[in-house]
Amino acid sequence: MATDARRPVRSVAALWAAMLPATLLGVAEAVLLVCLRSSRPLLDLDVVPFAAVVYTLFGALAAAPILLACRFGHRPPGRVSLVFWLVFLACTDFVRLGLDVPLGTAQGMLVFGAGGAVLLLAFALLGRRSEPPPRRAGEGFRAGAGLALVLGAALIVPPILSRQVFRIGDLPARTAQAANAEGPPAPETKEVPGPPSAARPDVILITLDTTRADHLSAYGYFRDTTPVLEAFAKEAVRFEQAWSTSSWTVPSHASLFTGLFPISHGARYKTAEEQAAEPDLTSALHHTWIRPLDPAHLTLAEALRAAGYRTAAFVGGPYLRALFGMAQGFDWYDDRMVLSAGPSLAAYYWLNRFVVELEPDIFRFGHAYRRGDDLDEAVFSWLDRQGDDRFFLFVNYFDAHQPYWPVAAVRERYPGWDQPMDRDGLPLLFRAVMRGEHKATLEELEWLHSQYDAELRFQDQQLGRLFDRLRAAGRYDEALIIVTADHGENLGEHGRLSHGFSLDAPETHVPLLVKFPRSDRVAAEVREDPVSLVDVLPTVVERLKLPADLFPRPLQGTSLLDRSGPHVVLGELYRDQWRVERFGERFSRQIRSFVDAEGHLLEITRLGPDGEPTGQKELQVFDPRSDPLETKQVPGGPGYTSLRDALHRWLEKAPAYKPSSWLLELDRSSQGAELAETGYGGP
Ligand SMILES: [Zn+2]
Repeated sequence: MATDARRPVRSVAALWAAMLPATLLGVAEAVLLVCLRSSRPLLDLDVVPFAAVVYTLFGALAAAPILLACRFGHRPPGRVSLVFWLVFLACTDFVRLGLDVPLGTAQGMLVFGAGGAVLLLAFALLGRRSEPPPRRAGEGFRAGAGLALVLGAALIVPPILSRQVFRIGDLPARTAQAANAEGPPAPETKEVPGPPSAARPDVILITLDTTRADHLSAYGYFRDTTPVLEAFAKEAVRFEQAWSTSSWTVPSHASLFTGLFPISHGARYKTAEEQAAEPDLTSALHHTWIRPLDPAHLTLAEALRAAGYRTAAFVGGPYLRALFGMAQGFDWYDDRMVLSAGPSLAAYYWLNRFVVELEPDIFRFGHAYRRGDDLDEAVFSWLDRQGDDRFFLFVNYFDAHQPYWPVAAVRERYPGWDQPMDRDGLPLLFRAVMRGEHKATLEELEWLHSQYDAELRFQDQQLGRLFDRLRAAGRYDEALIIVTADHGENLGEHGRLSHGFSLDAPETHVPLLVKFPRSDRVAAEVREDPVSLVDVLPTVVERLKLPADLFPRPLQGTSLLDRSGPHVVLGELYRDQWRVERFGERFSRQIRSFVDAEGHLLEITRLGPDGEPTGQKELQVFDPRSDPLETKQVPGGPGYTSLRDALHRWLEKAPAYKPSSWLLELDRSSQGAELAETGYGGP
């Protein structure tokens, strides 16, 4: 027996002992992440079981080398494993947080090489024990039981806690109610809920995030990206010249929901001064200063709910989480992202690199957004519970947004998909291009176009599934359905990628299609006059004949049915501190744009590092009709003056936004758990 106790540990016992520290560290990392980063900790606990499983598997994969090290050095496997995983996690976090580069880069590999060398050196310095550590009776059993206990608890406890606040639909409703409780109540319209009617049809608003009009076959694009929208256009009014009010998610959606331009609704990037004076509600989560939509506004959802509608929203993108104030007026606001805290896990990066890329169809770990098919499932299950009541449904599809990660069924659909590109290196490419350090090559652009277009095709299929479901439920024909986008996407134009950098056509020329209830007999047509996203809300108000004085502030849009004169088409982009720091001082600027039948004016005001105007201004005018990508500026002339005058005349009239006491008071109350749960509270 005495000699037996000195024999090396058994492989199975070592396997348990090697996995246990990995599992423990994974759970600890996940819990820490949820505590530090999440605005809705209980809801985000889903990352804990995910981490437990993934790290346990990692532990199993690393068991063989750990076992070898133990046998060679005669050291207990539990301790060797703990040191190994600590070094591994430290290296991973140093590469992604310290160096801010993908793990697969030369720099990343160097860090791991150094980590490995440190481990070897440590072992060498410790020396080899002359004898294996004594084998204690039941060691393997204890390690196995410990692992089972930790894994079991991580799999069972978080879902139970999470369900405490997330009984089917409980949380979205509470989120919305709490969000609304902060602002003034919607005016009484003395309406009671009831079935849709000719006067009050169902209203469905769909935003295709990051979808530029000129890449849709419904807008004449040469690839068949949107057959569903093409068919939809045959029974809808399609606006050829629809423009967003900004080039990123929050201000554009705020315009859709309030009928106001950013200058008046205020949901935009804040200046340093505003950031100091107002509650910081978003920067810890989104690394930048964003003002959520002020609860003092009356939103489309609030107005429709007051008019007897059931209101529900299903959003795919992280910038529409309730945190940004968009939940106002929705009985049901479903902003669950798949594992919203997942991307911050160290293990996620490894999975992303080695597993997810192999099969994105099956693995959706750590997506920071919700894919269209998952979103559809959530909408369908809500639709099934609606009975006959009329509803306002808002859906935000997010598939066209980066990371351009189409499913296998469409990935190879368009030429260019097979260009040698490292998906993991995409963030680096984007950053290098936007910093002006690299000009995207033809091959890179071909690949980007093919994958963006494939995502559009996938997104269109999901839209088709939604339409089919509405038809099957008998709710399609008589519904008022609006399909649009919040902004476009640069795909190499002007040497840019992504969006939120300017206000020219690739970033702000969006699709807009409106299908009126069939019994309205509004003929399908193509409209050429410039219109804006602010016109959507007044269109719904007019069609539903809601009281004109319902909205406390005068609406700045005009009903799309109104053809008596030109619509005001204004765009605004404010300085974003994060962009300036990340991409350079040339983005320290504020841009305003104005579109009319004459052209598209961009007025660029240069700002200094402190955000104050430097006195430099630049005017650019394009003719989007003859030059849809806006590659050539129209030579200066009277057009410049008349467009600039029109822009300023309009800006002078628009009441500038002032934060309401509701917004400012979030500062004090948001410290508590109550608001953290509503989604308004920062972490
Ligand atoms: Zn967006």
